[in-house]
Amino acid sequence: MSRIAYVNGRYLPFRDAKVHVEDRGYQFADGVYEVCEVRGGRLIDQRRHLARLKRSLDELRIRMPMSPAALGIVLREVVARNRIGYGLVYLQITRGVARRDAAFPAPEVPPALVVTARALNKARNEALAAKGIAVISVPDIRWGRVDIKSVGLLPSVLARQAAIDRGAREAWLVDKDGKVTEGASANAWIVTKIGTLVTRQADHAILRGITRAVALDVVKALALTVEERPFTLEEAYAAREAFITSATQIVMPVVRIDGRPVGDGRPGPVAMALRQEFHRYAEAG
Ligand code: PLP
Repeated sequence: MSRIAYVNGRYLPFRDAKVHVEDRGYQFADGVYEVCEVRGGRLIDQRRHLARLKRSLDELRIRMPMSPAALGIVLREVVARNRIGYGLVYLQITRGVARRDAAFPAPEVPPALVVTARALNKARNEALAAKGIAVISVPDIRWGRVDIKSVGLLPSVLARQAAIDRGAREAWLVDKDGKVTEGASANAWIVTKIGTLVTRQADHAILRGITRAVALDVVKALALTVEERPFTLEEAYAAREAFITSATQIVMPVVRIDGRPVGDGRPGPVAMALRQEFHRYAEAG
């Protein structure tokens, strides 16, 4: 079965799914994106992902190409046409196609919209979570508005590749004060020796992860103690547990940081409990 993509109003086989050379996403990374988990063929937390999308677009003064309800229909259609039971749906909106000039096109051009979906291997993800992953730390060299989910991801690309080159799976980004901001493509959490969860507050230095927000709901429901504040790499090395959250990984235990075992070097009970409970608190649409 050929994969189908939605491109500016049409559902196309992948080989025909193309965007213009002067699309501003291609020329300037002038666009934003969202990724939702698909589970049992349903979109997880679509409402919150589309609310964050609207916020990212508003910050960049890009128009929403259609209403959230219409966008929801396109997302579900792409999932259905690709017969995704478990996987992800990706959407990207750029400022559109215009002669190359850094300033916003005048008059305004229609924003461009692309939606794709792909299956993920559930058994492989579960096996990974049972084992936990290794992360490395790298300097956070991103721009000052990473709360906008922009497609300008070069620092994340370099950080993820540095992790892979060093035998790890994810990179934790460290700001100039020695504090961990987040992962290259996930939010970062630790559990201290006394059992307090710590994750950075949602300011301009991190992306407001939807999984992070739902995980905070689970934390409250389980009556765990949490602090939203920056933490240092040293605190992370000394932590009892560490984990990351993202739409495609949900709660993924971290068992090594820069080659040092976290706790006893195995996934911890807090991370596993949050992973276990997560979908009871997420919305399935
Ligand atoms: N932080 C960054 C930099 C990300 O790229 C992502 C997801 O792609 C996240 C955090 C997690 O966000 P969410 O839970 O909404 O997937």
